[in-house]
Amino acid sequence: MTRRLTTTAGAPIADNQNSLTAGPRGPVLMQDYQLMEKLAHQNRERIPERTVHAKGWGAYGTLRITGDISRYTRAKALQPGAETPMLARFSTVAGEQGAADHERDVRGFALKFYTEEGNWDMVGNNTPVFFIRDPMKFPDFIHTQKRHPRTNLRSPTAMWDFWSLSPESIHQVMILMSDRGLPRTPMHMNGYGSHTYSFWNEAGERFWVKFHFKTMQGHAHYTNDEAAAIIGRTREGYQEALFDTIERGEFPKWRFCVQIMPEMDAEKTPWNPFDLTKVWPHGDFPLIEVGEIELNRNPDNYFAEIEQAAFSPSNVVPGIGFSPDKMLQARIFSYADAHRHRLGTHYEALPVNRPRCPVHHYHKDGAMNFTGQQSGVIDAYYEPNSFGGPVEDPGVAEPPLRISGDAARHDHREGNDDYSQPRALHTLMDDGQRARLYANTAAAMQGVPQDIIDRMLAHYEKVSPDYAEGVRKALKS
Ligand code: NDP
Repeated sequence: MTRRLTTTAGAPIADNQNSLTAGPRGPVLMQDYQLMEKLAHQNRERIPERTVHAKGWGAYGTLRITGDISRYTRAKALQPGAETPMLARFSTVAGEQGAADHERDVRGFALKFYTEEGNWDMVGNNTPVFFIRDPMKFPDFIHTQKRHPRTNLRSPTAMWDFWSLSPESIHQVMILMSDRGLPRTPMHMNGYGSHTYSFWNEAGERFWVKFHFKTMQGHAHYTNDEAAAIIGRTREGYQEALFDTIERGEFPKWRFCVQIMPEMDAEKTPWNPFDLTKVWPHGDFPLIEVGEIELNRNPDNYFAEIEQAAFSPSNVVPGIGFSPDKMLQARIFSYADAHRHRLGTHYEALPVNRPRCPVHHYHKDGAMNFTGQQSGVIDAYYEPNSFGGPVEDPGVAEPPLRISGDAARHDHREGNDDYSQPRALHTLMDDGQRARLYANTAAAMQGVPQDIIDRMLAHYEKVSPDYAEGVRKALKS
C-alpha cells in the first residue's frame, strides 16, 4: 500500500515537487503553506549540541545479572537472574558533533537501564578517574578543552596551563596520554562509573560501591599516527565500527563488576574514597562479578534515540544511591539541567528516555507536554488529594546518611596525595607503554610555553624521575 504524504497536521499533499507560483517564472505565493512548513522545519532541525560529549555513538542492549550481590543492594535489576533492557551511548568529550571519532580524548560511557523501578543511569567514562575533584573547577576545566575565544582553535597551552596548575589532574592526564587515550572502537574499552556511589540492602545497611564494565572484546588502541591515517579516510570510524558490528550480529559485551566498601570503612582508608581523582586499589577492594551487558540492537533513528538520549547521574533506583563525592553531587544537578535546556522540560517523556515502568507525578504543563497529566486521576492534579492520586511509598526510603563537619570552603588540595596512584600506574606499564606515554605527552605539548612545560615536568618528577626524564627526552626528539 502506498502511504499518502501529508502535512504535519495530516492534510494530504498533492504536489511535493513544485512550489505554488503565479506563473512558470514565479514569484512564489505566500499561501504555499506546505512550502513554508518545509522550510520552517528545516530551520529547526538542530537542537543545542551537548557542551561536552557532543559526538556520540549508541546502541540498545541487555544487562544480565549472574552473580549474587543481594546482600549489598535491594535494586531489583541487580538481583540474580534479572535481565534489564538498556541503552548505551559512548562519546568523545571535547570535539563538536562533526569532530573526528579517532581523536585522543577521554570517552564517555553512559548507560541507561530501563528497570521496573525506574530508569537507572550510569553516566561514566572509559577511565576510572577524572581531571578534577571539586565541581567549582568544572566550567574552567571544560573551557580549556574547547576553543580559544580569539583563535577559535583548541589550545594546548590552555590545557597544559590548567593541568600544570591542578596536580589532581595528573592521574587522568596520564591515562589520557597512555594507550587507553585512543581506543580503537568503543567496543575495545572499559567503562567505569568513576564516582563512588552507594548500595543499600533490605536491612537498611549502606555500602559504598564502584562500578566497572570490562570489555570482553579485549583492549585495542591506535597510536597517534594510525589514528591520523584513519581520520584521513573517515571521521566516523566509531559509528561505522559499532553500527556494522551490531548489524552483523556480533554483539559486544562487557563484564559488569563492582568494588564494595562497608559504610564505616570509608573513615579508615588513608585516601578519600569519595575523591574522583583516585581509584580503589583492587588489592584492597577486589572486583566482584555481577553479570554482563551486551549491545544487540542499533537504533532506527540516530537523532531521536541517541541525540535525544538524556543520561543523568540523578537517575537512581531503590537500592542504589549517591555518595559524598562533590563532583557527583554537582553532576546530579547539572546533567538534568543540561537536558532541560537542550531538550526541554519534558525530556524524560521522550520515547528513548521514557521509563518502561508506570510513571506518576504531579509536575504540570510546560512547553511540549505531550503526555498530559501524569497522576493517572483527572481530579488529582495536586497532592495530597482525596481523589486517589499517587502517593509516596515510605518503603523505598534510603537509610539515613550520617554527615558531620564544618560548612566551609575546604581546600580540596590540602592533604591529598596526587602522585602515588599515578606512580602505581607508571610501575604497571611495560617499556613499550611507557615509551608511548612519553611520546604522546610530548606530542600534545607542541607549541606550549616552556614555563608551563617545566611546571608539568616538576609534577612528573614527583610521580617518578623516569617519567619526567622520558617526557623530557621525547620533547627533544
Ligand atoms: P591492579 O594491577 O590491580 O589494577 C590495574 C588496573 O589498571 C587494571 O584494572 C587495568 O585494567 C588497568 N590498566 C592497565 N593499564 C592501564 C592504562 N594504561 N591506563 C589505565 N588503566 C590501565 O592495580 P591497582 O588496583 O592497585 O591500581 C594501580 C593503578 O592502576 C591505579 O593507581 C590506577 O592508575 C590504575 N587503575 C586502577 C583501577 C582500579 O579500579 N583499581 C582501574 C583502572 C586503572 P584492565 O584489567 O581492564 O586491563
